[in-house]
Amino acid sequence: FDMFFLAFVERLFRPTFKKDDFVLGKKLGEGAFGVVYRVSLAKKSSSNKEGDLVLKKATEYGAVEIWMNERVRRACASSCADFVYGFLESSSKKGGEYWLIWRFEGESTLADLMQSKEFPYNVETMILGEVQDLPKGIERENRIIQTIMRQILFCLDSLHSTGIVHRDIKPQNIIFSEGSRTFKIIDLGAAADLRVGINYIPKEFLLDPRYAAPEQYIMSTQTPSAPSAPVATALSPVLWQMNLPDRFDIYSTGLIFLQMAFPSLRTDSSLIQFNRQLKRCDYDLVAWRRSLEPRASPDLRRGFELLDLDGGIGWELLTSMVRYKPRQRTSAKAALAHPYFDREGLLALSFMQ
Ligand code: ADP
Ligand code: MG
Repeated sequence: FDMFFLAFVERLFRPTFKKDDFVLGKKLGEGAFGVVYRVSLAKKSSSNKEGDLVLKKATEYGAVEIWMNERVRRACASSCADFVYGFLESSSKKGGEYWLIWRFEGESTLADLMQSKEFPYNVETMILGEVQDLPKGIERENRIIQTIMRQILFCLDSLHSTGIVHRDIKPQNIIFSEGSRTFKIIDLGAAADLRVGINYIPKEFLLDPRYAAPEQYIMSTQTPSAPSAPVATALSPVLWQMNLPDRFDIYSTGLIFLQMAFPSLRTDSSLIQFNRQLKRCDYDLVAWRRSLEPRASPDLRRGFELLDLDGGIGWELLTSMVRYKPRQRTSAKAALAHPYFDREGLLALSFMQ
């Protein structure tokens, strides 16, 4: 009861909006299920700068996405883009579309930043505050990549602890928040909340094949189709334990780690080729490495060298994330406690003081 009451009161004091309140700006993205714009409020009040909001006009999955964003705001707000409001806009089209509003977090996604030749140095001052006093080289790159990985895993851990699996983790869905100077997760359009059975049936066609784990279906195909909500609530912690659906996101995050370590794997075509190679190696990264290393390009060799720093803890973490069986993959929480992050943690502490 308390939770519902609080949610109701919170809702009451939050601003509500309608279609005419927004002035459309630049288009930021267009997918199969919606279009995203930078927008500003028509009536310029003092607190609203131009274009400081983001609007997604979504089709059939908009209702679920609003639900997920409301839940995230209450349970783990700092992990995702700051959600403002969502509503059904029914005046223009028959059937209507869902409008979702967020704060504009910043100009760049991790995908944008990774496209730069400068990566990861172009992120260094953004997340570490100042340039480290280390010569340019793999050690310094590794520290920046550690910080990015820690921030993504932190967001994932809180999403997973809330009972939400994102299912579309990729650099395009990780935004750099200029306000908090950290990376945050966006786009809950394919997410599933297993604790209450929302979007329980896996929509495999929503999954991005470039970053999807091999199991495709997040829940075992043995799992019966969506039970009614109360049944799902009673069952889902058990199902969660049995199927470990959160490990789907871990696999995708492992691929991001891989792309950060190996510049040559950052393009779509090279990632697709990597996926084919890994499949041929029965999803065994160690076998993939063995098959490549003898005739590896300087770029690949450099990536292995980076992951091999400090006794190979980076490589160890990577191989614990990218595994065929979900059960054998690490969780977000366990990954955060991995020795790979030890030194980085100390650095972050000294930066905060
Ligand atoms: P899609 O369903 O089209 O993938 P997303 O939610 O991923 O929709 O948004 C598309 C793009 O819009 C993102 O890749 C990002 O560039 C931008 N974007 C989305 N939300 C925000 C936000 N809160 N702040 C800044 N940019 C955003
Ligand atoms: Mg997206």
